[in-house]
Amino acid sequence: MRRKLIVGNWKMHTTAIEAARLAGAIVEGCGNEDRVSVLICPPFPYIALVGNILTGSQVALGGQNLYPESEGAFTGEVSPTMLLDLGCKHVILGHSERRHTMGESDAFINCKVQAALAAGLQVILCVGETHDQREHGETTAVLQRQLTLGLEGVSAGAVQHLCIGYEPVWAIGNQGTDATPELAQAAHAIIRDCFGRIYGETKAETLIITYGGSVKPENADALLSCEGVDGALVGGESLIAEDFLAIINAGITRPKPEGLFA
Ligand code: PEP
Repeated sequence: MRRKLIVGNWKMHTTAIEAARLAGAIVEGCGNEDRVSVLICPPFPYIALVGNILTGSQVALGGQNLYPESEGAFTGEVSPTMLLDLGCKHVILGHSERRHTMGESDAFINCKVQAALAAGLQVILCVGETHDQREHGETTAVLQRQLTLGLEGVSAGAVQHLCIGYEPVWAIGNQGTDATPELAQAAHAIIRDCFGRIYGETKAETLIITYGGSVKPENADALLSCEGVDGALVGGESLIAEDFLAIINAGITRPKPEGLFA
């Protein structure tokens, strides 16, 4: 069974003091727990601060975005090497807010994916349909397009450094409609199938696909116990240490009880 990955995406939230407190509480709450992988992605200005607090802990550090150049005249941007320099091992790319609020195209996201992998970062490539696209029966086509274009030119050897975040846009940020576990499971199967057609079944079997969209302590167990849901990408609830720790706890891989009716 794949070890679950629980990612906290802090987006553009927290002050420095709040970031330090939150990171400290997560480190303390995770202790030596190694049956689940935990990653937190603070805003750029707090990455170094949070990185210091995570040092020596089980909690990994990631960026929420990057610019696909190693350096240069790109005012306001952050390169893959800068993230690595500050101790980041991971980066979230193609998040729905980057696609829909900042207008990032699949082609631009693909440049970022390639730059991140070339630099040695682990990539979480987010994909997901809007409400309208789902209503019009376009979910499969949208997921296939975002995956195919987002991964263009990425070699089979590089995909071990990649995971996919399924994030239905309509379910992000507690908009009132949460995805059911069945719906999440079905979308993950579409993604795994599409990935398998590009990279082969063996790679698809080991691919980690996280679910994101209003994950909270109340629904984490149901979502994380679905076949093919390998973790959670958490926005709002990752800002509340107690709730994020409860989601992490739901992600711990526990041995199945033995016995006839197990
Ligand atoms: C996200 O940040 O990708 C996300 C899923 O946010 P939320 O958990 O708040 O819906």
